[in-house]
Amino acid sequence: MFEKVLIANRGEIALRIHRACHEMGVKTIAVHSTADADAMHVRLADESVCIGPPAAKDSYLNIPAIMAAAEITGADAIHPGYGFLSENARFAEIVAEHGLTFIGPSADHIRMMGDKITAKDTVQKLGIPVVPGSPGGITDDGEATRVADEIGYPVIVKAAAGGGGRGMKVVHEAGDLSAALTACRQEAEAAFGDGAVYIEKFLGRPRHIEFQIIGDSHGNCIHLGERDCSLQRRHQKVLEEAPSPVIDDETRSRMGGIVAKAMADFGYVGAGTIEFLYEDGEFYFIEMNTRLQVEHPVTEMITGIDIVREQIRVASGRKLSYTQEMVRFLGHAIECRINAEDPKTFMPSPGRVTQYHPPGGLNVRCDSAAYAGYTIPPYYDSMIAKLIVVGYTRDGCLLRLRRSLEEYVIDGVTTTIPLHQSLMDNDDFKTGAYDIHWLEKFLASEA
Ligand code: ADP
Repeated sequence: MFEKVLIANRGEIALRIHRACHEMGVKTIAVHSTADADAMHVRLADESVCIGPPAAKDSYLNIPAIMAAAEITGADAIHPGYGFLSENARFAEIVAEHGLTFIGPSADHIRMMGDKITAKDTVQKLGIPVVPGSPGGITDDGEATRVADEIGYPVIVKAAAGGGGRGMKVVHEAGDLSAALTACRQEAEAAFGDGAVYIEKFLGRPRHIEFQIIGDSHGNCIHLGERDCSLQRRHQKVLEEAPSPVIDDETRSRMGGIVAKAMADFGYVGAGTIEFLYEDGEFYFIEMNTRLQVEHPVTEMITGIDIVREQIRVASGRKLSYTQEMVRFLGHAIECRINAEDPKTFMPSPGRVTQYHPPGGLNVRCDSAAYAGYTIPPYYDSMIAKLIVVGYTRDGCLLRLRRSLEEYVIDGVTTTIPLHQSLMDNDDFKTGAYDIHWLEKFLASEA
């Protein structure tokens, strides 16, 4: 097992990784920007190294500074968390070239899944259902018209290198296709330096359902069921739950079996998420994330499996601690992402947290690096806490969530806690009757 893991991240996820390491008897090294000198992960880690000024490109994305910190401290592995360098194939290669272990999949697998055209083609060959669309990139407008006519409008033009909800255009009729292709190519070229685009059927009212998988280097891969992440604002997830209110046990084991087998055949090592749109009982792959996800705790809460611990184990060459038969699902878990933002306008609200009191009690988990007296810097993501609760049933989970939100004290800054509270009173939310567009409509109706 590793002796020292460098955590190349910040905030709640840096703390989450630190906790898993310490439970395994592994020492941790925090790296931080000058803006994060007082951060909780820096306080708790065994060692810390300042790697640069506040801007992420100079610190959390600064590969030479991170590698220097790893060498000085004698780290033997690097955990990238999510965001920042977590899906940067070149970083994974550099870590390996320095004789350290990257806690994540191989650089080749990261690269393949980072290009959406290659990803779609790869998973389709592995037996995973995909959204109907062009068989690869589209360079010719005539071919684009033929493909769109065949699959039927509306269609969506997407950038191969797209991410974070950018580089997508919905086209409702044939007359608008050529302009959308041009715009999408230009946008993708400017934003990602890669103008490749493809076309797929636009689904009208899908849910976002994703499967968690973990593979080891001994040919094993298991699935930990699905998460429903349909509550989104501007393609950003706001609240996630597991299991999905619309997936039954039979469907879970059938689809989970398909993705786990596909990833075992692929030789995937590490944690990963296969994202689908789900409509009228059908699954359509949209992308794969080759890293730990923000919403991983809902899966942990209903399986009792520490996903970060498994990531560290498989990266060190060990076998998974679980076989598929050992994975049991119990209860229902929901995660609320709490952002330091205005709950109506979503304007960021950085600043000093004057009082901090997280909720507690049975089956309540708060993943946060906030504390009383902590100043939330304005330079990074505004998510400051994740409240995760588990109940025996979904209804029980909702009652506990309502009580926990009521108890949460974060004074000094505005947070999105009131938004989550308003969801608790909504009938569609209470019954689980929502698709990926529901939250935006709900927010518009509340405004
Ligand atoms: P990103 O990498 O930018 O997150 P995704 O491919 O995961 O891009 O898509 C992000 C979101 O865009 C999805 O969650 C869904 O809301 C919407 N979307 C993507 N593809 C389609 C599609 N074919 N039909 C309808 N909505 C789509």
